[in-house]
Amino acid sequence: MDIRPPSIETANIEWRDGVPCSTRFADVYFSRDDGLEEARHGFIGHNRLADRFSRVPAGSAFVIAETGFGTGLNFLAAWQTWEASNPGDNACLHFISAERYPLDRNDLSQALSLWPELENYAAELLEHYPPPVQGAHRLVLAGGRIRLTLFFGDVLEAWRELDFQADAWFLDGFVPARNPRMWDEAAITALRKHSRPGTTIATATSAGDVRRLLVNAGFSLWETPGFGSRPEMLAGELPMAPDVPARECSTSSRSIAIIGAGVAGSLLARNLAERGLEVTLIDKASDAGTAASGNYQGALYVKLGVEFNDQAKLGLSSLLFSQRYYAQSGSDCWHPTGLIQLAYSDVEADRQARFTARNDYPSAVLRSVDATEATRLAGIPLQSGGLWFPHSGWLEPGRLCRSLASHPRIHRCFGFDVHRLTPCNGKWHIAGNGEQDVVADRVVICAGHLSPKLIPLRNEFRFRTIRGQVSHLPASSLNNPAVVLCGPGYINPAYKGIALTGASFDLHDHSPGLSAESHRENLSMLTSMVPAALNSAAEQPDPALLEGKVGFRCTTHDYQPVAGPLTDPAGRPLEGIDLFTGLGSKGLSYAPLLAEYLADRITDQPQCLPASLARRVATQRCHKREIPQSETIGV
Ligand code: SAM
Repeated sequence: MDIRPPSIETANIEWRDGVPCSTRFADVYFSRDDGLEEARHGFIGHNRLADRFSRVPAGSAFVIAETGFGTGLNFLAAWQTWEASNPGDNACLHFISAERYPLDRNDLSQALSLWPELENYAAELLEHYPPPVQGAHRLVLAGGRIRLTLFFGDVLEAWRELDFQADAWFLDGFVPARNPRMWDEAAITALRKHSRPGTTIATATSAGDVRRLLVNAGFSLWETPGFGSRPEMLAGELPMAPDVPARECSTSSRSIAIIGAGVAGSLLARNLAERGLEVTLIDKASDAGTAASGNYQGALYVKLGVEFNDQAKLGLSSLLFSQRYYAQSGSDCWHPTGLIQLAYSDVEADRQARFTARNDYPSAVLRSVDATEATRLAGIPLQSGGLWFPHSGWLEPGRLCRSLASHPRIHRCFGFDVHRLTPCNGKWHIAGNGEQDVVADRVVICAGHLSPKLIPLRNEFRFRTIRGQVSHLPASSLNNPAVVLCGPGYINPAYKGIALTGASFDLHDHSPGLSAESHRENLSMLTSMVPAALNSAAEQPDPALLEGKVGFRCTTHDYQPVAGPLTDPAGRPLEGIDLFTGLGSKGLSYAPLLAEYLADRITDQPQCLPASLARRVATQRCHKREIPQSETIGV
């Protein structure tokens, strides 16, 4: 079958006696006797999960890794056990599963409908279940008590790309005779690398080759009665090495300061607070979301490249994660109207033609529409078609930041203008204008275009500041679109009488005041992109009188964001300091996933970004020059 990226081949399911079977592997997904009891007996029971879950301390994580997500039955059984076992406050169950042939949503729904007692869990999984596109998908469920990292791809690629250490393994990849790749030496070696001392393991197979490979990898194994008609199965564990310290579970005692309460800083602060950490959120303004993140409206939008390279993968993962995030947590700040990326010029039409010829995106993510369909969707005449993103839309970013920053574990330190960061005795001292220093174990700089001057390295970074002015158009002057329209700029559907359009792109102008010239530019860009946008029968907006807002975006030399430990030019991380900026005009799209990634790192939990994408956002690429080690500062 010709499957082009980013799509992935889905499972071929045949229902036999009410049980799903894979026609590709000629095997059942779970026992004909009782799949849920099989999961409880084999995977939950032999990994002693109920007891181990009940002893997970507050703010810690327990990590299960699985080969073959299939119908998600094992996952839901583990989730149900977690909820019943009363782990510590804000503890999180991470479930990491690799799946080469994901079930489509209908098959998944049909399979899980077999278990009425799991109905609520299944409904939440289905609501978040990603479209069949390759790569890592992070699903945050049960208000953050459950984090599912679903890797759609081959198991070896998953274990190569993902960064985690498992406490327990579910080996569930069909019988070895029908799927040897899941059980060969490379697969067992990879799972051993992701196992911490004391990791337990369970599998329904007792094949001699599998047993030998696991023993060679260092696992102690024992045979035990299997479920239903299976006479035996294998359980085991990786012995505790005497010299290895017990797992350091909780990072919640460490103090964290975040500088900058825009979209990046507010999302990160909220993410960490919900994981149980106390966070100090610092901003020189008197509230969150007042600077570049304070626009009245902001479109949720990424421009995906023709090549499905790391840049496109990061854009797509960010878009899918942020759509799920805002639908769940964006409260009434999120307006999922859908969005059209217009083929507004011959060059862009040609680019989109090459994009659709080269790639195969599921229609739930995006699809091509012609001018007629685009006009029907937008409800106003459009001269060109484009790419339709049905689950995108627009946000009220300022309101979103303020609502994110309101959490009992977020200490708001506003009106504090940070001048300098100094490392001292393993802590960071954050000095402001005449105020008492804020002292923290860890600091994250999320200060947009002001970030470079706070970085405590005598080195230059390849960041640029770009002024962007948006214009507020009275709805009465518009043929109001029902969806967001993007091209060289964008226009949002009017809200409470105003539609935001923009933004200007000024590399050399740094003036903070509104300019009539920038309004004029915005209007001319709008009418070239959507000639029918302004209502010719109404009074035309006057650039000299229009309202709007000026913001300064921070972008990098490669227009990709930065999130991760601050490194010196040689790539060595500085202790306890991270950078999260360079989001340009795409902060609303990138920031939720990157906040999740940084929060994973800060809490030492499994990371949602695969290694290739973590490298894509690493700080190191933004250094301007190599400098001698003696010039860098460490704690
Ligand atoms: N744990 C599942 C559940 O709860 O329904 C059942 C898993 S089923 C027995 C085995 C799964 O392994 C199938 O979904 C299959 O597509 C997947 N699989 C097979 N080969 C794979 C590979 N090389 N990499 C990743 N997944 C694979």
